[in-house]
Amino acid sequence: MEYMNKSLTQIHNALIKGEVTPLELVKEAIEKAKKDDNNAFEYICEKEALEAVKKLDESNKDSLLWGVPVVIKDNYSTKDIPTTASSNILNGYVPVFSAEAVIRLEKAGAIVIAKTTMDELAMGGSGTTGHLGVTYNPWDKSKTRIVGGSSCGSAAAMASGIVPIALGSDTGDSVRKPASYAALVGFKPTWGRISRFGLFPFATSLDHVGYFSRNVYDSAYLLNVLAGHDDKDFSSSFKEVNDYTSKINEGVINKRIAVIKGIIDSIKDKTVLASFDESINYLKKQGATVDVVEIDINLLKSIFPTYVIISCAEATSNNANLDGIKFGNRIEGESFEEVMMNTRTNGFSPLIKRRFVIGSFSLMRENQDELFVRAQKCRRMIVDAFNKVFEKYDAIYCPASPSIAPLIKGSSDTLSDEYLIADNYMAFGNMGGYPSITLPIGFENNMPFGANLTCKPFDEANLFSIANEIEKGTGLKDLVAKEGR
Ligand code: GLN
Repeated sequence: MEYMNKSLTQIHNALIKGEVTPLELVKEAIEKAKKDDNNAFEYICEKEALEAVKKLDESNKDSLLWGVPVVIKDNYSTKDIPTTASSNILNGYVPVFSAEAVIRLEKAGAIVIAKTTMDELAMGGSGTTGHLGVTYNPWDKSKTRIVGGSSCGSAAAMASGIVPIALGSDTGDSVRKPASYAALVGFKPTWGRISRFGLFPFATSLDHVGYFSRNVYDSAYLLNVLAGHDDKDFSSSFKEVNDYTSKINEGVINKRIAVIKGIIDSIKDKTVLASFDESINYLKKQGATVDVVEIDINLLKSIFPTYVIISCAEATSNNANLDGIKFGNRIEGESFEEVMMNTRTNGFSPLIKRRFVIGSFSLMRENQDELFVRAQKCRRMIVDAFNKVFEKYDAIYCPASPSIAPLIKGSSDTLSDEYLIADNYMAFGNMGGYPSITLPIGFENNMPFGANLTCKPFDEANLFSIANEIEKGTGLKDLVAKEGR
């Protein structure tokens, strides 16, 4: 009997009935992780996980995470466990503390069994730029398609049924886009809702802890575990934590949902549009009002360039500590300037250097007003436009990607006019710090695609209840690639 391809509730029930033990679960997950052929893992924590099972706190048995194996994206600090953010500059780095999100998972009884591959330092969307190379999409047996990034290894581990929960991080869409390509539920909360202590910063004003689950209920449950103020993260909110599962079966009667015209218009794939329409019709039948709402097309087009300037500028500043002196594998030199130069030249891939060049350029005194400050103003205008929609609507709903997972060949980090809006719009969720969730809505040639739902800040309970209704409509939950379709 396999358990790792199931939902949290199913696994929990099996544990409670004594059908299976935490040790057996950990062994199953590690065995599957060792057989992984999608390049999902940076490090499998076999010894550490077997130790952790022995120390499981029996008094915690009611937690749905108790005794449950999980995986963690490699940009979360994990005490005594190598953490590289899939960058050569951090090869061999072993943190001396764990990220708060990891600590909270472990307190709830979860067992970390592996660290997962990612785009280098979380800067990417293809899952092809980490130091271990391409991470494949488990749904595509021919291994020609990306699973998406930057949380590629976590998505691949989930889609191939290795664990039921995986931590990722989301600065532009790095959990919500791969979720679409891998038939998963991918969620990021309101900015500040989950502590980011110990998550390597990429672009602080946009970064969110995010995660994958197999269904909406598990996603809501996990927020109960992870949400809440943390003294170690000054940007974490003091707002009280709700029970995010409490409203999950509330339904959508009288809920108002906006579909953004410019986003829909930018999607050409007929199968994606047809499944999306189907899910809208279902929501209407269940009592929701769904309207097509316009946002200035120039604002929608500016989401990506605005994101590029702000994220690269913040990344340049945040990663200045990877210099071979404070952190990072040192390459010696004659002076400390030379040490830094050698270390950074050697440690980062060209893609990362490109982003640092964009970031430094936009922060230079002579360019700052024209680039960085202007991008901040654009961000304000974009967020104002979405806030205006939220004055009248509970949620914004659109396809999460314009197509199924793209081919590895041709996947790049460059601007694409074709999908300028459709491929990049979800970053509005990071700019406004809105809670946002992707869930599967259909398949094309046996490859999945999803839709994205975004709500007002701190309206997570509402988000989960609408998402749960969408899930009921599609019937697409608890999906694992190897079982095929
Ligand atoms: N694809 C986006 C980028 O390359 C998002 C990254 C992320 O969310 N970490 O920056």
